[in-house]
Amino acid sequence: MVDRGDPVSAIWAPAIGAAAPRDLCTDCGISRSSDPKQCGQACQFIKPDYPALEARVHGRSRDPQRTDEIFFGPFRRMVRASLAPPRKGAQWTGITTRLGERLLESGAVDAVLTMAPDPDDKWKPVPVLVTSAEGMAKCRGMRMGYAPLLALLEPARARGFKRIAIIGIPCQVYALRSLEARLGFERIYVVGTPCSDNTTTANFHTFLELLSDQPDTITYLEFRADYHVELRFNDGRMKEIPFLKLPISKLPPDFFPMTCRTCVDYTNVLADITVGYMGGQGEQWLLVRNPRGEELLDLLGSEVQISEPGSAGRRAGPVKGFLKNVELAAGGLPVRSMPNWLRPIMGWLMPRVGPRGLEFARARVEMKAVETVLHLRRQYPQRLKNMVPAHVWALVEPYGIRSGRGERPEQRAEPRARNNTRVPQLKGTRAFDGACVETQTSQEALLSKEIVEHLKSLHTSAIDALNGYEEALKGADGQGMTPLFGEMIVLHRRHADELASELRNAGEIPDEKGSFMTVIHETIMDVRSMFNGLDESVLPGLIDGEKRNAAKYDDALKADGATASVLGRLSGQREDILQKIASMEAQKSANERAA
Ligand SMILES: Cc1cc2nc3c(=O)[nH]c(=O)nc-3n(C[C@H](O)[C@H](O)[C@H](O)COP(=O)(O)OP(=O)(O)OC[C@H]3O[C@@H](n4cnc5c(N)ncnc54)[C@H](O)[C@@H]3O)c2cc1C
Ligand code: SF4
Ligand code: SF4
Repeated sequence: MVDRGDPVSAIWAPAIGAAAPRDLCTDCGISRSSDPKQCGQACQFIKPDYPALEARVHGRSRDPQRTDEIFFGPFRRMVRASLAPPRKGAQWTGITTRLGERLLESGAVDAVLTMAPDPDDKWKPVPVLVTSAEGMAKCRGMRMGYAPLLALLEPARARGFKRIAIIGIPCQVYALRSLEARLGFERIYVVGTPCSDNTTTANFHTFLELLSDQPDTITYLEFRADYHVELRFNDGRMKEIPFLKLPISKLPPDFFPMTCRTCVDYTNVLADITVGYMGGQGEQWLLVRNPRGEELLDLLGSEVQISEPGSAGRRAGPVKGFLKNVELAAGGLPVRSMPNWLRPIMGWLMPRVGPRGLEFARARVEMKAVETVLHLRRQYPQRLKNMVPAHVWALVEPYGIRSGRGERPEQRAEPRARNNTRVPQLKGTRAFDGACVETQTSQEALLSKEIVEHLKSLHTSAIDALNGYEEALKGADGQGMTPLFGEMIVLHRRHADELASELRNAGEIPDEKGSFMTVIHETIMDVRSMFNGLDESVLPGLIDGEKRNAAKYDDALKADGATASVLGRLSGQREDILQKIASMEAQKSANERAA
């Protein structure tokens, strides 16, 4: 059992300090240390330097000639593996926790830093120091959620531990590696698991409630590489649900936090050994990355069965489909779901014809890269240049996504004044000591007057459009074009909020009233009075109105003196509107054909 009070128990969960509030943070534990400013150097979400850390940890950074390293990071060998017999309670066969046991049994380490289930909630991870091999069995299995693993480093050092092992997910391992040299341990073994789509434990409970009317009886959940979720229950039952039948559309839009949607390391590239399942085709998948990783695998001896990983299918189609959905979701538009009749057919087909083995792992890594770039472009455009490593740009390029102006360090936008002379660069630093991160304020202070005027005008148009669609929604009274009006309200409200935020950053006070009546507002009112109802006949008017809106973005994007952040924001909003126009035009043509 986890012991919160007794430091010499086999599994000790020391009291941990409070977290410092941070934007884009998975609470890896560094902000709870005695020096929270270390986040500036340590954080994957600020200014990561993967090539340098790969070189420091593995002796070299990833080699583009070995194509799979672009996907999975540096490795000496990849294998399919399983522990025989599989360990009870393990997420897969228990290789991860068995490595911890072997390190403790052999005296290679004094303690393993990992997660145990919270005694009051089996799905909630609690960071623990495990000092005897028996303790590792209590840590088996996956919990969903974030917990401050690295806050254990100081208690471990205070207990006099010299050699430790850490079992962690990529955002924790990145921070650990950045600070490793100054932590004062003789040796740190790092066992990493891949990680994607983590969420808060509270959110995860919501998901379980959608999967079963007795969510408390679920003891195990895994997203398997054969496109099924496996559930196990406390009465021994097992259930498999095809991905396509999951109630994803019922989850709140912020179910997956922005951290995990913009995370650039799926496969834990800085671990000594990565223990996952993605490339394992039903077995586990190990990436041995350096000599210490070999040492770890050797500890398992004949307990582990190893074979060559397989690869089948083609990933390009599924990744393109995923890209399309992320584009819609990142633009705030609802993702159109597959018709119900098609789901069972696709659910049956995907494990047979979809990417499998290493090709499945490559597909997932590409999908994650696509998601990172698109979500950052939308939500944090100013962070792209520091947060996205070159290999991620290489992964998304085959899908037509290329870095734009100011999105990479070497392509940094040079702000221009109205007369086209260079504006002197202001230096902005945040509260973090280690890294100099350009602040929003310093960037936006460089906006030209011309671009500020465009922002004001676009903001007014967004509010007017919002008012118009709200008016239309009332008039439609739940009939006709109600769903479209709802979508447009969401879209224009978000645009108005984003533009208001850009204006505030530029020191302006946004006017929330809008103008008396915009083109779109007028169009809707006119059409409504003419046709005495808000059915499909309003589409041409709406399309015209939105085209005029898009033209305003074209003008704004041509203006001088915008920063990369503002340009990213404006192009994203323009794209949203163009997509909406395209879907309205498609609907209009379908109506005409049907008439
Ligand atoms: C949130 C999350 C998402 C994952 N997504 C993927 C994925 O997409 N693809 C993939 O191949 N693998 C993924 N994994 C890893 C995978 O689920 C297995 O943990 C891994 O394959 C090891 O299996 P095992 O039987 O060896 O683990 P076990 O021997 O059962 O040990 C599991 C270890 O994970 C630790 N752990 C459990 N929950 C957490 C947590 N929330 N945070 C940090 N550590 C935790 C435990 O303390 C334990 O040390 C994910 C893991 C997590 C925690
Ligand atoms: S290093 Fe990053 S993830 Fe960790 S606590 Fe600091 S800000 Fe949060
Ligand atoms: S997806 Fe990335 S950011 Fe999210 S918990 Fe996993 S490693 Fe951390």
